[in-house]
Amino acid sequence: MERPKEVDDLYDIAGKFADLSGWALIGGRCARCEREGWINRDWLEAKFSNAIISELTPKLRCRKCGNKGNNRWILGKPFR
Ligand SMILES: [Zn+2]
Repeated sequence: MERPKEVDDLYDIAGKFADLSGWALIGGRCARCEREGWINRDWLEAKFSNAIISELTPKLRCRKCGNKGNNRWILGKPFR
């Protein structure tokens, strides 16, 4: 799979995952090492269906360096 392209900060666009358009990909970017990781959206929507995205920021944890607490949600667009 090709890497998605980051287009925006996620919570500038939507309050909840369910508000996002169908094509949107959801990921996180590490504030320390800049690693980006893409997260399965069906899983997110099922697990956090009524959650406000910005309030989930503390749950984002970097799989590379372990940084947690100030990472960013990012919105991605798939390549076609
Ligand atoms: Zn990191």
